[in-house]
Amino acid sequence: MIVVENMHRHFGGFRAVDGASLEIREGSITGLIGPNGAGKSTLFNVIAGVLQPTAGRVTMAGEDITGLPPHELFHKGLLRTFQIAHEFSSMTVRENLMMVPGGQSGERLWNAWFARGRVSAEERALAQKADEVLDFLTIDHLADERAGNLSGGQKKLLELGRTMMVDARVVFLDEVGAGVNRTLLNTIGDAILRLNEERGYTFCLIEHDMDFIGRLCDPVIVMAEGKVLAEGAASEIMKNEAVIEAYLGT
Ligand code: ADP
Ligand code: MG
Repeated sequence: MIVVENMHRHFGGFRAVDGASLEIREGSITGLIGPNGAGKSTLFNVIAGVLQPTAGRVTMAGEDITGLPPHELFHKGLLRTFQIAHEFSSMTVRENLMMVPGGQSGERLWNAWFARGRVSAEERALAQKADEVLDFLTIDHLADERAGNLSGGQKKLLELGRTMMVDARVVFLDEVGAGVNRTLLNTIGDAILRLNEERGYTFCLIEHDMDFIGRLCDPVIVMAEGKVLAEGAASEIMKNEAVIEAYLGT
């Protein structure tokens, strides 16, 4: 689905991503792990069009997508989750979901929803879709809650929910479980598994929690110092000496 070839992203003289190559198989839930500062988030941002690469190539299903801006990738079904923007925190959970399909900013919908004061068939369909998503994520009881009032974990679920408002093909999740309690982490894990199995989403996720990684991911790719160090099944990868050394080295 995604092939990254000899990717570089430098900041000044510093090589945050330093010749990383990897593949994300269609239908997989691929884990990306590695010590802090390994370049994982930078690599995600380069793939997702948030940062331009210094060198290297990304293809999606054979098509060169190197350096395409996020909204073009969005239309191709490549999504990276983002934290709920501050300006959306006073909107309800349902409204947050409804902002997504307009593309980048949802400005058109924003205007339609608030300025005209009447609800078109298109907007009703969106609201219905949003409710289906909330039901799927088992947070339908939060539909009318302001997004700013959600717990950290509930916000992560909402971020995942936004990928379900469009026909996502591959979703990049950067530490979706960080600071989330066990129960919600399991809900997030279940949602990822179901999206993978029932809707054919491919995932690539950065995560520190090895239980979470072990439960969801195959394969697991290990990065260190901007490069790919190893790849394999979760159970095998942590026995790899180079991997152990990379973790102990920090
Ligand atoms: P990870 O997600 O694996 O923890 P990052 O990709 O966030 O690592 O960062 C990799 C390295 O690149 C770190 O040393 C970080 O300080 C550096 N880095 C990341 N973004 C920038 C930036 N915008 N400017 C300068 N250095 C950066
Ligand atoms: Mg990171």
